Amino acid sequence: MTTINSVLGPLGTVALGFTLMHEHIIVASAGIPLNYPELLGADFMERIVDGLTQAKEGGIDTIVDATTLDLGRDVTVLAEASRLTGVNIIACTGWWLEIPRFLAGVSADQLAELFIREIREGISGTDIKAGILKSASDIFGVTSAEEPVLRAVARAHLETKVPIMLHSYSPGRVGEQQLAILKEEGVDLRRVKVDHSNDTTDVEYLVWLLEQGCYLGLDRYPGRNVSPLARTKTMKALIDAGYGDRLLPSHDWSLAQIEAETPIMAEEERELRNPHGYLYIKKVVFPQLREMGVTEETLKGLFVNNPRNFFEGV
Ligand SMILES: [Zn+2]
Repeated sequence: MTTINSVLGPLGTVALGFTLMHEHIIVASAGIPLNYPELLGADFMERIVDGLTQAKEGGIDTIVDATTLDLGRDVTVLAEASRLTGVNIIACTGWWLEIPRFLAGVSADQLAELFIREIREGISGTDIKAGILKSASDIFGVTSAEEPVLRAVARAHLETKVPIMLHSYSPGRVGEQQLAILKEEGVDLRRVKVDHSNDTTDVEYLVWLLEQGCYLGLDRYPGRNVSPLARTKTMKALIDAGYGDRLLPSHDWSLAQIEAETPIMAEEERELRNPHGYLYIKKVVFPQLREMGVTEETLKGLFVNNPRNFFEGV
């Protein structure tokens, strides 16, 4: 049996159950939850507990929290939320797109040491350990600031065997660049998932990625720019092409974010787009997939077997 790090300590992969592989409890900026929690709204912990309780009641057992330091990670909130709701939470280490200028010149090896410490010893002075590594690149491809992070994530993976998630920009086929660098670092691509892959409907590109051995995070639901139904059709096409055992669907949804006086997206609009939170896939996408002829066994595979295999390195 493989054991991985959850925010409440070691967790056997058999206990993962129904797992959403890319979500956020909080999305903010580095240090916000600790220093300015009022920006998340006075009742943010209550909203987190409510959201996770509903998820648990709806059959979600585990959530991978894709929130790095620069996205406002606060592992004490994650641990408390997991304790109060019974949802397993896996925290991540690595970096997203907000790489501060003062990190210029910090080497991949320096960064790898930090990530390894967060996997082996704990995060922010706690003994809460990371269970997954994350690196990110977006519309500009792998930038000079992001490359050391990507290489650091690769090196921390080689040292610890903890798997890798990549925030990627699928409409620009950025996964090609990211995988090339990981390959150069000697990473077995079966330990990697390329996320946000359902922001494109280019099945040829997605099959190319899958042929490299990696998993695909189909982890934006309902998402933007590509309709939810088009996302589901892409998933079905990949299942039909024989890749059902390498797909990891999720929402990339968050329970708490900055409550701005002039928000970019009003809370009502967010609600309208997704009134189901972490249960959107179960409530909206499952009926679509069943209608398209996808079996219960395949559905279970996507959310139970695939996450487990990903963490076990199968
Ligand atoms: Zn995300």
